[in-house]
Amino acid sequence: MTIDDAPRDALRGGPRELLRWVATGAAVSRADLSRLSGLSPSTVSQRVEALISQGLLEEAGAGRSRGGRRPRQLAVPTGGAVVGAIDLGAHHARVGALDLSGRVVQARTLPVRIEDGPEAVLGALLAEVATLVGSAPATGGSASGALRGIGIGIPGPVQHSTGRIVSPSRMPGWNGFDVAAFCADRVDVPVIVDNDANLMALGAHRTAHSELDHAVYIKAGTGIGSGVISSGRLHRGAQGSAGDISHCRVVADPAPPCTCGNAGCLEAVASGAALVTALREQGVPVSDLTGVIRLIDDGDRQATALARQAGRAVGEILAVVVNFFNPQVVAIGGRLADCEPLLASMRATLYERCLPLATQTLLIERVAAGQDVGITGAAHLVIDHVVASA
Ligand SMILES: [Zn+2]
Repeated sequence: MTIDDAPRDALRGGPRELLRWVATGAAVSRADLSRLSGLSPSTVSQRVEALISQGLLEEAGAGRSRGGRRPRQLAVPTGGAVVGAIDLGAHHARVGALDLSGRVVQARTLPVRIEDGPEAVLGALLAEVATLVGSAPATGGSASGALRGIGIGIPGPVQHSTGRIVSPSRMPGWNGFDVAAFCADRVDVPVIVDNDANLMALGAHRTAHSELDHAVYIKAGTGIGSGVISSGRLHRGAQGSAGDISHCRVVADPAPPCTCGNAGCLEAVASGAALVTALREQGVPVSDLTGVIRLIDDGDRQATALARQAGRAVGEILAVVVNFFNPQVVAIGGRLADCEPLLASMRATLYERCLPLATQTLLIERVAAGQDVGITGAAHLVIDHVVASA
């Protein structure tokens, strides 16, 4: 074992890992878990019993007999809508009820007016979570049932230890708002708050790349941000701002002013909001990101040029990240991820600016998990919290 392997190895056989092996189908019995973890059968049994008593695992019928008593098969309870999730965006929110395996049971997209302020917006979304969880179909004999917690993604910086929003762009009235405390007054289950890029990273990693230890996920929509998976876990840094690339400086002439007071920030050049502003300044009557994407899809010259410039800017910052962090995969999600000119110039810049050793086996992909990736990440935040406190 190298020193680098230590953080992952220290988790070996922990309740989270046992649960993940069952959830992914790597293990279906106590014997499988014992073999995978290297733990003694009695230790595995003890941990499995604790997870069963918490309703996090269940015994799902009998396995194949080898002559003696038939081994009982383990499974993560599925079908119960026991985790609530909110993925708040600039204009819409995806709200869902998920089961303990992170599978979406019910989900809905709602229009949101962020300028209505946090009390009105979050109040309505919490009510929607309650409706979705309450109206989910009953489960077939699952040990689950009651709501275990709610995960919330915010399109702005979140101080992880407190759940407070700090200096968000384009969220008037939300600065300093304590989302966790507001929700704690209204629901009696744990509420975990994080930024939307971290939720996308967690959702995408758990669904598409759980076998990879080091990954970077860029969320490019109205705003722009990233989430970092290091040694298999979400890396938040000291305060929760790790991966926030929105105010990194890029080469741009002229350097457009940014909401933070500086000029030439990545967000002011390459975010969806920046593309809308730049097109309007060129006299193109476009009102939102949907309009920009339509113009790019139609091959509009000005919009395509701006998308290329945005891709180069993202690639420039990403090259620094890749050289510094050496991930196995870089994946881009959010509404701009489908913009071919942006993706092509991002990829070209990345290869041009990175060390060959860093890009030799680097996967550069689109986030494949679709519109539910954020709520899936939110659910996994809650599931990890429930397992850790079990
Ligand atoms: Zn800025």
